[in-house]
Amino acid sequence: MPELPEVEVVRRGLATAITDRQIARVEVLHPRPVRRHLLGAEDFAAQLAGRRFSEPRRRGKYLWLPFDDGDALLAHLGMSGQFRLEQHEAPDAPNTRVRFVFADGDPELRFVDQRMFGGLSLTPGGAELPDEVAHIGRDPFDPLFDLDEAVARLRRKKTGVKRALLDQQLVSGIGNIYADEALWRARLHYARATETMTKRAAVDVLSAAAEVMRDALGEGGTSFDSLYVNVNGSSGYFDRALAVYGREDLPCRRCGTPIRREPFMNRSSYRCPRCQRVPRHARF
Ligand SMILES: [Zn+2]
Repeated sequence: MPELPEVEVVRRGLATAITDRQIARVEVLHPRPVRRHLLGAEDFAAQLAGRRFSEPRRRGKYLWLPFDDGDALLAHLGMSGQFRLEQHEAPDAPNTRVRFVFADGDPELRFVDQRMFGGLSLTPGGAELPDEVAHIGRDPFDPLFDLDEAVARLRRKKTGVKRALLDQQLVSGIGNIYADEALWRARLHYARATETMTKRAAVDVLSAAAEVMRDALGEGGTSFDSLYVNVNGSSGYFDRALAVYGREDLPCRRCGTPIRREPFMNRSSYRCPRCQRVPRHARF
């Protein structure tokens, strides 16, 4: 699932391509991605025609495309959702589900989704902050993100530090990949009990999360999966710079010890057993 840097790459691509453009018509090629629109695909298309996009926005991993009338289109990328910009004559990529044709011509916008866990929905009044996103915490790239408050809230929790990093209400945008990378940078084990962390350690790990996501954004994101691409159909390069994620048995970039993979919340955690030792106070 894309995390903050990958979603931001998509947002930036869309910002350049669709801001201030008016939709001429919407073609829904498969009803599943618009299933959250209860009046059906035809009504979805009819309600969007004629509207004009303003600049796409994001909080954490959540992306929405506001209209200049105050409503917004919420985009759930799910496991495999992609936005692609194409010339009208270009053949559809496999699994193209929704097509946006603009009043000013090319390029048109296509929503492609192989597995269709994602989708698009109209959120009335959602231009500033859709209701569906309102409970999500601010992410570290947000100018209003308050590090001191996030540190205090993290230390008040009684959980393992990785669970806290993945809690989108505490800090949004961090998923499995960047949580593991941040923990490695901060030399913390994923099960370190948050209530025993010093203020300094909490600042370090949250700063490391922001830093690793900024580095990843600079490389166009991480192409952990061929399903994740930007609006031009290409993917980022940050996987080459990952320190632990996906590097089981490879040497730690700091100390050379082989990286270990362990089961965690039905997925995996990667850590260096020497740089990130099992803590005395652990919450698994
Ligand atoms: Zn190490």
